Amino acid sequence: MTAPRVEIDLAKVHHNARTLVERLAPHGIAVTGVTKATLGSPAVATELLRAGVRGLGDSRVENLEALRRAGVSAPLTLIRSPMPSQIARVVAAANVSCNTELEVIRALSSAAGAQRLVHGIVLMVELGDLREGILPDDVEAVAREVGLLPNLALTGIGTNLACQSGVVPGADNMSELSGLVKAIETSLGLTLAIVSGGNSASLDWALSGAETGPVNDLRLGESILLGREPLHRRPIEGLHTDAFTVVAEVIESIRKPSEPWGQLAQTAFGARPARVGHGDIVQTIVAIGHQDTDPAGLQPPAGIEVLGASSDHLVLDAGRRLAPGTEVRFQPNYGALVRAMTSPFVTKAFAAARPRPAVTSPVGDAD
Ligand SMILES: *Cc1c(COP(=O)(O)O)cnc(C)c1O
Repeated sequence: MTAPRVEIDLAKVHHNARTLVERLAPHGIAVTGVTKATLGSPAVATELLRAGVRGLGDSRVENLEALRRAGVSAPLTLIRSPMPSQIARVVAAANVSCNTELEVIRALSSAAGAQRLVHGIVLMVELGDLREGILPDDVEAVAREVGLLPNLALTGIGTNLACQSGVVPGADNMSELSGLVKAIETSLGLTLAIVSGGNSASLDWALSGAETGPVNDLRLGESILLGREPLHRRPIEGLHTDAFTVVAEVIESIRKPSEPWGQLAQTAFGARPARVGHGDIVQTIVAIGHQDTDPAGLQPPAGIEVLGASSDHLVLDAGRRLAPGTEVRFQPNYGALVRAMTSPFVTKAFAAARPRPAVTSPVGDAD
């Protein structure tokens, strides 16, 4: 099988999604499955829906369009604010979009009218992480405006934490969200269908036994795909952390001095790996690099050390020779996964085929 590739174990993705859906259900919280790290993979999306997610979310309209083309009919939410240049596509592909700008919302209203559709609006609230969001004091006024625009439905409000500044979802910011929901519902005389309490970083809070109030939705990507919570990147108990594996192929393995010689300046990607006093080592190159993934986000198998990376080469010390053609299997973190799934050079393999001798990562399952 060709390399580099990402091997995707759909059964593990399914298990992770179903487990989180079942853990959140007693708290009255449904899951929007976020597919952006998989380039909007219809296979992954279908698995999430089979596992019981309420709908799907993606940050890219291109990915939502790919899901629609593949025949996915579930509710789709654009979870990044729409670009004005893509308004018509947003309305055509997404049932709902997350929004913070009245100007954009007005354009969505016109585009929805032109396409004879009703488009749902989730207003995102800024609760301190300083990425997207309307300031809390302004949300009610914007909600009122949305209510006056034709071809739109005020579907709900949401927030996003822990992405830009690492602000932890907890009692304070989440009860502020609850308070806003109550204020808007009372003053506008309506019930918000969706109160979206954040991303995977909100799981700890939602499952801690805290009062979750009106929150009835979480938008989950990383926790489903990699089985980890993003605040500390700890494995979530009972979930698989190895549903995705990045596989690369050895193209050179030669005994060399461990220290470079000649006059030294910058490397292709900045810092030079510190490597002193190791004598001769067998240096192995696998054919994967910055064009394929984030090399720093690849966890190599036990006994293998990453010495450096450039566009197309990942240099390893495996402690022994690995014959050309040997496959080395890495566990990607979120950044490495996103880059691998979106690189045209990386094949996506939905079966865990192992046709050749493989060096396997020690990272196992939590269950
Ligand atoms: C990426 C993203 C998510 C999903 O985040 P995870 O940490 O992968 O669960 C949710 N909401 C928004 C707005 C996002 O951009």
